[in-house]
Amino acid sequence: MDAEPEFPEGTLIGVLTTQPLDRVLDYRAPEGGCALGDFLEVPFGPRKVLGVVWGPGQGDFDPAKVRQALRVLDAAPMREPMRQFLTRAAEYTLTPMPAMLRLATRAPGLGGAPSMRTIYRLGHGRVDRETDARKRVLAAMAEYGGLAFTLGELSQIAGVSTSVIKGMVKQGALVEEDTPRDVPYPRLDPGQGGKDLTPEQTNAADRLRAEVAGGTYGTTLLRGVTGSGKTEVYLEAVAACLAQGRQALVLLPEIALTAEFLTRVEARFGAKPAEWHSGVTMTERRRCWRMVGRGGAQLVVGARSALFLPFRDLGLIVVDEEHDGSYKQEDGVLYNARDMAVLRASLESARVVLASATPSLESWANAEAGKYERLDLRARFGAAQMPDMGAIDMRAEELPGGRWISPMLQHAVEKRITAGEQALLFLNRRGYAPVTICRACGHQIGCDHCDARMVEHRFQKRLVCHQCGETKPIPKACPSCGVEGRLAAVGPGVERMAEEAQALFPDARIAVLSSDLFGSARALKAQIEAIAAGGADILIGTQLVAKGHNFPLLTLVGVIDADLGLQGSDLRAAEKTFQLLRQVAGRAGRAEKPGTALLQTFQPEHPVIRAILSGDEEGFWRAEAAERQAAGVPPYGRMAGIILSAPDIQAVFDLGAELARNDGPLRAVGAQVFGPAPAPIARVRGRHRVRLLVKADKGVPLQAALSRWVAPFKLPANLRLQIDIDPQSFY
Ligand code: ADP
Ligand code: ZN
Repeated sequence: MDAEPEFPEGTLIGVLTTQPLDRVLDYRAPEGGCALGDFLEVPFGPRKVLGVVWGPGQGDFDPAKVRQALRVLDAAPMREPMRQFLTRAAEYTLTPMPAMLRLATRAPGLGGAPSMRTIYRLGHGRVDRETDARKRVLAAMAEYGGLAFTLGELSQIAGVSTSVIKGMVKQGALVEEDTPRDVPYPRLDPGQGGKDLTPEQTNAADRLRAEVAGGTYGTTLLRGVTGSGKTEVYLEAVAACLAQGRQALVLLPEIALTAEFLTRVEARFGAKPAEWHSGVTMTERRRCWRMVGRGGAQLVVGARSALFLPFRDLGLIVVDEEHDGSYKQEDGVLYNARDMAVLRASLESARVVLASATPSLESWANAEAGKYERLDLRARFGAAQMPDMGAIDMRAEELPGGRWISPMLQHAVEKRITAGEQALLFLNRRGYAPVTICRACGHQIGCDHCDARMVEHRFQKRLVCHQCGETKPIPKACPSCGVEGRLAAVGPGVERMAEEAQALFPDARIAVLSSDLFGSARALKAQIEAIAAGGADILIGTQLVAKGHNFPLLTLVGVIDADLGLQGSDLRAAEKTFQLLRQVAGRAGRAEKPGTALLQTFQPEHPVIRAILSGDEEGFWRAEAAERQAAGVPPYGRMAGIILSAPDIQAVFDLGAELARNDGPLRAVGAQVFGPAPAPIARVRGRHRVRLLVKADKGVPLQAALSRWVAPFKLPANLRLQIDIDPQSFY
């Protein structure tokens, strides 16, 4: 007995569609009626598009022209907290609602009929003859406790041809059934597989469990040195959440980390969770999206966009490595998944755990201010100790030109590899050399589409633009003066470090870990596992190695250029360098053998370098906080970046100047605008870029002022205006 639908067939309804229009459209309710939050298929011009019932219709269209929605889709309706989340996130990031809906429906075939597949399970019949092949099929079925398999899976697991299986179906030993493809994920059991926690870990886990059990919103900063067992501890919060019958989401900053994490979840809960990231197949994405909405997925592990999945009852969001820059989406919808996680949780009465060894200043300050709870894990698990830290004063080292490994670092590496241990040389620069210069005329080879130098990648034998990805062969002659044979590589990249290391340590096995050297996440994972198992003596890596991987044999970390990150004009330069180098140093000595981290620097007295060496993290944050407070910048003030871009340089500057001149709506709230100025990278993909920066005091309603400010300006067709709230990068 169905109750009367909220909107009976033919009533006017307001539908939010994925089409780029800045309003909710009126339709008539489809046959059978519909309810608030239902996913619909609606006609849009000659096409059919996806929409969500957003409320009653406005009635401001010509009633004769309002079309009828085609049908309600077979998907769990969008719940009120999710609709609010999209609305609030759109307001915060100044993103049009249709773009938010697109983010929330990024799975293929949501409108399609549920697709079916044929599966095989044990039947009651007997086989007439027990051949070896048939026995293997029965053994495989027994081994998996009577699970159902597809034809392909079963023939592979049992090692038999498909005709053997079909034959067993005829005899009734197996039965063939059609089931929906989007099946629920295996149940996770929160009651099994927990590790014995240390007293410090137990303390933290107990607190998190109690907070989750409270069933109300709150955020906890879980700060723990690398290797202290943060993951073990927050898995206990996940367990408490699952035990309540609610769903949990764990966000990781890097797909390469998911494999290790999935293994740990399986050990803890007896089955793998659902996955959501760019490496997941389309069919699996669709399954994940639908099952999350129906409650058929208890735990999702994913990248930042997993935050927009339609959870039925979300009780916990963990943001692991919460300081990581990759949580900020830098194109399309500009949002920070860490901040949006807090917003979403507050609307779902869920808890948030922000885990990091080196929290962002934002989260540290929120904990200081009492807005977040804070838990600390101070000791590494087991025998592992924090590494010894030391500086190598490069002013005192003798180094020929074109070499970057100081004699002191060289000796330290030699000692480690002689002892059968591993050393990591860290340099946050991909490729062979950052600059290719002509020794005849001084010309530096740049990208044709960007104001960026091309970076030589010797493994690929090409020059690559790190802005737009454009590549070209390394020329023989200088493109400017035409002289041959005088092009020279200037500066180091990881590939060049590998060359230098090979010359210094001819017998060592050297592995380079850089995101561009692996075709797939799987290849990268295989390489990481091989290295962890001892497959290399010297590792050379970019920031990829800083993120959470465990290398038990690694006892020495040498930072080639500790000053590299300090040179930028970025307001977070000090914070980012501090985080990155503390993380990298934390890779050393994670097992029984103690580790050492050595920083090559030309400025050992620099306060950031000294803070990294002394490990006085609270001191560093306090000093950094005081500086930001004095400057009135985030997290003690508000900022927004405006990026204008167009193929025509004059158009962007003209609009920039006009915006700066007409800043009344900003001044009205006490906000200031700076610029326009050419962006640090003034041209990307052939588009000229100009930036303005808006600064305001903390309590200022900045978004509303920004909207009022830009609204009157008509943008020429080719000109793009992007607003970046709380910008993280300023390129
Ligand atoms: P973090 O996330 O803080 O870097 P992890 O949770 O990855 O630390 O723990 C580091 C290593 O120590 C992992 O291999 C983990 O399995 C192990 N470990 C941590 N705590 C325990 C424990 N209580 N019992 C057994 N192993 C533990
Ligand atoms: Zn380019």
